[in-house]
Amino acid sequence: MKKTITDYNYNGKKVIIRCDLNVPIENGIITDDTRIKESLKSIKYLIDNNAKTIILSHLGKIKTQEDKSENTLYPVYIKLREYLNTNVYFSRETRGESLEELVNNLKEKDVLLVENTRFEDFPDKLESNCDEKLSKYWASLGDIFINDAYGTCHRAHASNVGIAKNLPNGIGFLVEKEITKLDEILNEDTHPYTVVMGGKKVSDKTLMIDNLITKCDYLLLGGGMCFTFLKSQNYNVGKSIVDNDNLIYCKNLMNKYRDKIILPVDIVTNNKNIREISSISDNESGFDIGPQTIELFTDILKKSKRVIINGPMGVFEEEGFSNGTKKIYEIIKEKHIKTLIGGGDSAASVNKLGFANDFFHISTGGGATLEYLSGTILPGIAVIEEK
Ligand code: ADP
Ligand code: MG
Repeated sequence: MKKTITDYNYNGKKVIIRCDLNVPIENGIITDDTRIKESLKSIKYLIDNNAKTIILSHLGKIKTQEDKSENTLYPVYIKLREYLNTNVYFSRETRGESLEELVNNLKEKDVLLVENTRFEDFPDKLESNCDEKLSKYWASLGDIFINDAYGTCHRAHASNVGIAKNLPNGIGFLVEKEITKLDEILNEDTHPYTVVMGGKKVSDKTLMIDNLITKCDYLLLGGGMCFTFLKSQNYNVGKSIVDNDNLIYCKNLMNKYRDKIILPVDIVTNNKNIREISSISDNESGFDIGPQTIELFTDILKKSKRVIINGPMGVFEEEGFSNGTKKIYEIIKEKHIKTLIGGGDSAASVNKLGFANDFFHISTGGGATLEYLSGTILPGIAVIEEK
């Protein structure tokens, strides 16, 4: 068991908490503040326990000087002031005298949000490369470190792994909830156990299958995930998404696990035709699973005792291509199947299609959840002390 936020006494202590405040911002306006709201539980716990709270987070990616003005956490600071009933300060610097002065002036229950940790990525990638000097410097600002940024736990960056190596540490409420739910469903010995994969980050996801497939009874492939497999079986997939680098890998998987891997038998194309998979033409792309596939997948889901879903079954954002994704969620709801869903877009699809309360757990992390599911020990969690 990892140490958690409730394992320390915070009276008057400077606590660095790594949150995931990576919210979508358009023209300076936050368009969805879910991640801020989800981070409040741990932040408020620290405030209630008289800590001096220093919040670190990344926002987007910083590759050029210009990226900095578009990825400032300042709008998040304004939001935090709305949500937190205490003094909230903002440091425009990610290191140096002005930051240190703000830290040293903090009183109990005060909160300081520090500018985007990835500002340290330009020009030298110090944050993303877990630079030792930067990690030690950030750690020197606090007494205790809490990691509550689940979405970046699969990365070893200075602001999570680097600081944790240099301070007493624990995980926050969000990370604790995520791994408890994931462990519960992964370690349960109920079968059939079915994994459903879709979405479009095909190369990342394909390579995770190796480990997942050994544990599950069925792997249902839809969305953009199925076409590399179909092509490896010599079907013409037209202009659908294909990961040509992994064709042989997929072919080998098909040979080895032909009984477990279930591919679509028909699809809905970009021009809204329903095609058997043997009759997709050169200039068509598959954008959703077809009615016979829905039936096939539904039959397997109906008898499944636990299900993990990663990635939507089609381009659900457009009405004409949301049916497959919706029908899969309907059967899960109707049959009360214990289902964990992970991935940023998957979570969005559940909300958009009206199934937000029908799952055992909706994981907030995309890459982190997928790596956890595939058996990787996440560095951001591995670095935390055991109880
Ligand atoms: P997640 O964030 O849930 O892990 P991904 O990021 O891999 O999922 O992919 C989500 C995106 O995949 C959605 O925006 C959806 O429109 C797109 N998508 C789903 N099916 C297809 C398809 N057949 N062709 C192209 N894009 C697709
Ligand atoms: Mg995504």
